[in-house]
Amino acid sequence: MDNFAKFLSSSCYICSRRKTDVICDRCFNSLIPTSERFSLDIALYKYNETASKILLMSKYPPYNFYILKYLIRRPILDFSFTANTLLCPIPISSLKMFERKFNQADLISTEFAKKLGVSSHEILKRKTDTKPLFSLGKRQRELELEDIFCTTRLGKFLANKFQNIVLVDDLRTTGETLRQAKQALATAGYKDVKSLTLFTT
Ligand SMILES: [Zn+2]
Repeated sequence: MDNFAKFLSSSCYICSRRKTDVICDRCFNSLIPTSERFSLDIALYKYNETASKILLMSKYPPYNFYILKYLIRRPILDFSFTANTLLCPIPISSLKMFERKFNQADLISTEFAKKLGVSSHEILKRKTDTKPLFSLGKRQRELELEDIFCTTRLGKFLANKFQNIVLVDDLRTTGETLRQAKQALATAGYKDVKSLTLFTT
């Protein structure tokens, strides 16, 4: 049975109760929407136990990333971007790409782009692979991520076309990954880069 067929089953992917949608209303309602919309960094939901389960299911076999898309499709978004906005997913390491065959930030970015009527394209690349970050403290994370991104050739070319760039990722924790990505884009001439994540701690 493929991943999609599993979603058509009648039990919730998170709690196994009976459901009528991708996940049951109880699990969906256990996600807490964030309210702040005035900063440069927007997140849809607060990171909690349900969010953690969803992220684990999306990142490790059997890679149930359909729930991530559902969490973008279901709510009415209370923010928008101008038409000349480009969403840019945070690139993953080549090792993760080899194992997973997809970048979950790219899936999220594409889904947001569809819903918001803007474009999505990866205009950043990683110069080197990093260690897993979850076990690292704040300072170690900073050192590990320092100067890790650079803009792709297309990214440099597009700097004159898209004034508004929004970085997209699944989760914002310390914000260090986004800060490094913003710095790389600033070097290529992109100013006031925003971010959009599914979850934030
Ligand atoms: Zn449920």
